[in-house]
Amino acid sequence: MSRKYTSNIDGGQTSVVTCLPMNPVTHLFLSWTIADPCNMPLKEKKLITWAGVVADLDGLTMVADFANRALLNTESEYYFRFHHVLTHGLPAAIVFAIAAAAFATNRLKVAMLALLTFHLHLVCDLIGSRGPDPGDIWPIAYLQPLSSLMTFRWSHQWELNAWPNILLTIVLMAIIFRQAFVNGYSPVCFFSKSADDAFVRTLRSRFE
Ligand SMILES: [Zn+2]
Repeated sequence: MSRKYTSNIDGGQTSVVTCLPMNPVTHLFLSWTIADPCNMPLKEKKLITWAGVVADLDGLTMVADFANRALLNTESEYYFRFHHVLTHGLPAAIVFAIAAAAFATNRLKVAMLALLTFHLHLVCDLIGSRGPDPGDIWPIAYLQPLSSLMTFRWSHQWELNAWPNILLTIVLMAIIFRQAFVNGYSPVCFFSKSADDAFVRTLRSRFE
């Protein structure tokens, strides 16, 4: 999708952005490479990994925009008003860390690592989610949705589909493939145990 909208995501400043919903996968890969080496149950590794992805829940506001367009034939801008606003700040980080800890045995460790992967997500968005026009910089409003104070932007932010993001994704995939080969499971287990087993079998038969 490359439709342009007017955004008001940082307390009044208007910018034009384009929706390129690609990088939740990169966030998942990065969080998994943090969580997987930790000495803890797989369930807790999953919690830590999800904590590095769930910031993008506010991107689901695009569903409301699609529905408005498809069903009511009207344009709305919920995605560009609320993505990077509702769940891309410290309040959401605390909520998600507490939620992750609630489902864990090693609660403090899981909460701390969940905060780490969540903040890595913010850093990645801050440095590499621009696009596509030169002025389309996405800020991180660290205290939103409670306050527009502490809104950060990086003038050198690169595009979402720029080579550093692609390179990072490739490197993370290489790490994940190696971990899957050695450990016998991969992030595919998030979605299907049988699919993950098949993936690991294929990987081992190819490289063993
Ligand atoms: Zn994000």
